[in-house]
Parts: sequence; C-alpha cells; structure tokens
Amino acid sequence: MIDALDTQDIKELKGVGTAMAEKLAKLNLHTVQDLLFHLPIRYQDRTRIVPIGQLRFGDEAVIEGEVTGCEIKMGKRRSLICRLRDHSGSLCLRFFHFSAAQKKQLEQGKRVRCFGEIRRGSTGFEIYHPEYSILKDDEPLDGIDLLTPIYPLTEGLTQTKIRQLCEQALDRLTPYNLREWLPDRLRESFSLPSLADAIKFLHHPTQDTNLEQLKLGSHPAQYRLSFEELMAHQLSLINKRVLSKEDKAITISEAGALQQALLAQLPFSPTNAQLRVSQEILQDFSTGHPMLRLVQGDVGSGKTLVAAMAAASIVQQGHQVAVMAPTEILAEQHYLNFKGWFEPLGIKVAWMIGKLKGKQREAELARIASGEAAIVVGTHALFQESVTFHSMALAIIDEQHRFGVHQRMALREKGLQAGFQPHQLIMTATPIPRTLAMSAYADLDSSVIDELPPGRTPVNTVVISDQRREEVIQRVRHACEEGKQAYWVCTLIEESEALQCQAAEDTALLLTEQLQGIKVGLVHGRMKAQEKADIMASFKAGALQLLVATTVIEVGVDVPNASLMVIENPERLGLAQLHQLRGRVGRGQAASHCVLLYRAPLGQQGRARLSIMRETSDGFKIAEKDLELRGPGELLGSRQTGLLEFKVADLQRDKALLGDVQRAATELYQNYPDHVSPLLSRWLPKHNQYLNV
Ligand code: ADP
Ligand code: MG
Repeated sequence: MIDALDTQDIKELKGVGTAMAEKLAKLNLHTVQDLLFHLPIRYQDRTRIVPIGQLRFGDEAVIEGEVTGCEIKMGKRRSLICRLRDHSGSLCLRFFHFSAAQKKQLEQGKRVRCFGEIRRGSTGFEIYHPEYSILKDDEPLDGIDLLTPIYPLTEGLTQTKIRQLCEQALDRLTPYNLREWLPDRLRESFSLPSLADAIKFLHHPTQDTNLEQLKLGSHPAQYRLSFEELMAHQLSLINKRVLSKEDKAITISEAGALQQALLAQLPFSPTNAQLRVSQEILQDFSTGHPMLRLVQGDVGSGKTLVAAMAAASIVQQGHQVAVMAPTEILAEQHYLNFKGWFEPLGIKVAWMIGKLKGKQREAELARIASGEAAIVVGTHALFQESVTFHSMALAIIDEQHRFGVHQRMALREKGLQAGFQPHQLIMTATPIPRTLAMSAYADLDSSVIDELPPGRTPVNTVVISDQRREEVIQRVRHACEEGKQAYWVCTLIEESEALQCQAAEDTALLLTEQLQGIKVGLVHGRMKAQEKADIMASFKAGALQLLVATTVIEVGVDVPNASLMVIENPERLGLAQLHQLRGRVGRGQAASHCVLLYRAPLGQQGRARLSIMRETSDGFKIAEKDLELRGPGELLGSRQTGLLEFKVADLQRDKALLGDVQRAATELYQNYPDHVSPLLSRWLPKHNQYLNV
C-alpha cells in the first residue's frame, strides 16, 4: 500500500509540532498534500540587482552595496542603522531588533546584498529589516537569485517557515503518492503538463519564466491545476444531475387556493415576468423530482413575491417551507414580509437566527419541529443541528452568492429528515454571465425575472470627487428637509469588518454634528441584532432621516421613501455590489439619486468603471461590462466571483477553459468512471461529496 500524501499528517514534517499544526490548520493545511496545493499568491523577482539610484519608493528590490557606516541610534526607538553605497547612490538599512553580532558583521567596507521594501525614512530611502547576506570577496554571485514564492500566511507563520515546509512536501512527492487522474490521452489532447510537473513548477518557477504570464494566471502549469479543479466540479455537477433524476420529491400539480388568497390581498398584481417564473416553478413541482431552480432578477424585480407564491403552493399541501437569507437584517425583513402576507391567511411563520436564545429559541424550535409553523425564515442558523423540521418540502435561498454550494446542500439535508428531497429555489440579484452560469450552476435550471414592477423611476447617478464633500452634505440636508430619507454608505479597502464599522461610527458622528436638526441613525454588522432591527424599523417608520451604514444594507433592505444614497469610496467596490447598493433607492414614487463620492484622484480605469454606473441601470449590462473592464484577476488565483469556492481556479480568469473542461469531464465520466471519485475527494469539500458515493 502506498502511503499517499493526502494521508500523511502534516505533523510528520520536520518543524511541525502541535502549535504549528494548529496554525496551519487555519489555512486548511492538514496533510502533506495540502501543502503541495498551497500555492504562492505571487512571486518576487529577485533575479535582478537594482542600482540604488534607480529605486523608487514602494519597490521590493534586491540591491547590492558597500557598507560605509553602521551605528546604533537612540531616538524614539533604538535602532541599528547601516548605510550602504553603490555606484549610483546610497541608502540605509534599519533594524529595530538586532544583535551585537549583527552590528559587528555589518562593518565598514563589507559588501552586502539585500532584499526588501523601499521605504521613505528619516535618512532618505530605507529598508527595514531586509533579508541580507554578506558577500565574500571572491565568491561568485549567487544566493538570492530566484523567483521567490510568496505564500498566503496566517498569524504566527512566516514566509521562511512555510517555504521550508513546502520544500519538505516537494521532496516527498513521487509519481506514486500523488496520483495522476487525468489519462495521458486526455492530457495530450488538451496539452496539459503532468500534475507533478505543474506543482513543482508553481512552487519553484525557473528563472526564464515569463513573470507576466504567471501573474495573469495563464501559465500552462496554472492552467493544468485550474483545469483539474474545474473538471472535478463539473464531474460533481454531472453526478448530481444524474442522481437527482432518481430522487423523489413531493408532487404538486396546482397553484392552489392559498396562492390565490395571497395574491388577492396584495395592493398590486404580479408582473408578467413574476407570473411566468411562478409557472416554471409549478411545472417543476409537478414532476415528482426535486426542483433545483435559480431565479435571477435584478434588484427590485420582486423576487420575494415569487418566493411567497411558491411557498403558498407547498404550504397548501401541508408541508413546510424554509426561507434562508445571508444576513440577519435581510432575514428579519423577509420574516416581517412573510408574516405580513401569510398570518392574515392563518399560516404561522417562525424565525431562527443565531442570536435567538433561551425560551424564545425553544419556543421557535418547538413550532418548527411540530410543523405548527409552516414557514420558517432565518439565516444560516437554520443549519444548526437543533433545528428539526416536521416536513420541509421547499427550501428558498435568497441571494445565493453569499452562500457556498455546500451550505445549500446542508439545508437540503434538513428536508431529508422527513424522508423526501425538498425542492430548492435559489434567488439572486447578482447577474451571472452566461458562461459562468453554465459552469457554476450547471446543476440548476434557471429563470429570469426580466421586468421591473411598473412605476419605478430610474435612479439618477452622479460621480463626484470627495473634494466636494461639503456640497454633498448640504444636498443630504435639503433632501431630508423636504421629507425624503437618505443613506450614507461607508466602505473601506480593508477586509476587516471592525475597521469598516469604526469608519461608519466616525462618519455618523461627523454627520450628526454637521447636520444639526436632522435625525441620523447608524447600522453596521457589529451591532446586536435587536439594535440593528430597531434602527432599521425607525428608519422605515421615518423617525430617522439619514441612515449611515456599512455595506450590510447591500441586500434586501426596502424603504421606499429613501430616495438619496451617498456611497463613499465607490471605486473600491465591484460594480455588481454598487448596483446592489444603489438598488436600495428608486423604490418609491419620488425621483431618486445616487452620489458616488470617490476619493480623488481617480485613475482612468476607475473613471471608466464608475461611468458605467452612471450610464446604465441594467444589472446584466453592468456585470458584463465589469467583466470586460476588469479582465483576468489581478492576483494569482483570485476568486472574485464568489459563486463557488475554488482552491486555484478562477471562473473569470479561466473562463476560456470552460468549454474544454466540460468536454474533458464528459469524456472522463464515460470512459474512466473510476477516476471520478478520487478527483472529487481531491478537490471538493467533504460535505459536498456525499452525493457521489
Ligand atoms: P428583490 O427582487 O430585489 O428582492 P423585492 O421582492 O424586495 O425585490 O421587491 C421590491 C419591492 O417591490 C417590494 O416593496 C415589493 O413589495 C414590490 N413589488 C413586488 N412585486 C411587485 C409588483 N408586481 N408590483 C408592484 N410592486 C411590487
Ligand atoms: Mg430581495
């Protein structure tokens, strides 16, 4: 029996104890094989020595020079400063942590080669804590001379450490312990290198590598890995489709009286698009097999009503419906909506979010388990083990792009408890370009609500520099004084939610000061659910005039009287996200405005992107344009689509591969069925594999 690398515990490697193993686990690295697939995010070009005179601030560069002086400076922080000179200029190396030996080593006259980021310091250009080596007089130039891989890290893990570990993993790699599952014939016809070669190369690109190609993610070695990963996904989709044709679901052949009653009490009638999509759903319900349908509809197109109509048909037959939303704010909104629509008809609605505790939680759980509540609305808290349904026959998932495929699967499991497969209805406002939809959602049928309810006025969008912030604030004042309501959305480049919330808090304080007499509220992701709900309720009721928010309000918030939205730093958001945000206004009768308050100066690309927002309000056009402009991902393996979770592939970047991948997957499925399962377990998360045993 060969000791395959995916069964070799990472702790077998030198230098990995329990503490280190825990750190690695944070990166999802558990086995030796995991390390091989832990690819660099970029490479530093250390192949060229840059003359000091040519350095620019911010560069990461290798330089070489002679030490002209080395001394300890006391100042604010004690530091060791070493001045280096070459034929073109000089700079300083600065060490805040250093030993006496180090100081001695860097004595005047020594030649040093070092690498680091060029900063602006008190002495001119400086490098803090460079990696360096002292050059011996007669030693040939070597040492720091490769394309150095830079790996994703986690706290307490250094580049040096992870490089050592990847080295060890590579040393163990043989053709027997990391199996090649793509048959030679298939590899040849798609010109793919072997798996082992591709992996070795990506950890250690050769010096003659085209760095540009590597950056774009279009190197054959990168293609090889993306290809295999995309193939694995494709195979699982083929599998699911084949298997779901054998599954049983409850059959429903008519819309039913409850749906009639629901529609009868609405102050409006459904649009033709809403009726058509409802019809498609009903058609699925009538087949006896589980529905798996994606409903795409632009912001404001009325997806919730379509969901409610489907729910009504299921409830009519005595079964339950689960409605899952990605945020508590949105879940709350759906809860209130469904309650408003269904309780007058005698249908009970329950509610489940993570923060629900104690008696209230017990009560909701009991109502769900007994079937007393026919409709259950919540967040991913619906997955919790303690949640048991009486007979859940339809799972509705809103804003799918926030949920991974496997979460969708987990909810399905809840239905299985009742002995049949639930139908699934997935709703998203993020338009999905066709190629991507084909691949990411190949297991789904899809419908489009391509019509907005009547009476909507398009949002007038303007792009304004933050140098005119004062004017914008006055504009908010005017709108509020006229009885309208406004949003002020804060965004930040950092991924950190804490920082984003901080920024929103600061902005809310400032605006409160500057807008005396206007009632300003604040909502962000770190507030308690109850607090958030209260604020949203007062805004909806008109007690607050201006709502300062983070992007938590991106989805689903519905306050028709809000007709002005200011978005700070819009240049930092994706266009699809901007489109979502903007969709919060333009829901009522008043003409609505959206101010994109960018931080000047704005580059040409940024300008072009924001003007798309000004020119169109069609979500599909915006998505296509965004793809076009953004082109391939900027980072290796960037996973910007959020449709699926990939280890190395990127649907945008690799979309040219998709056709080939589909063909290859079909061929493998037919001719090498025993290769399917190992590929799935190599690439897909565990919970997503169970269908395939
Ligand atoms: P989204 O597709 O963005 O989820 P919603 O379902 O939240 O849109 O609907 C947006 C608003 O439009 C809601 O206030 C809803 O009540 C209203 N609405 C939905 N369908 C219609 C319709 N056919 N006519 C008029 N208003 C509608
Ligand atoms: Mg919605």
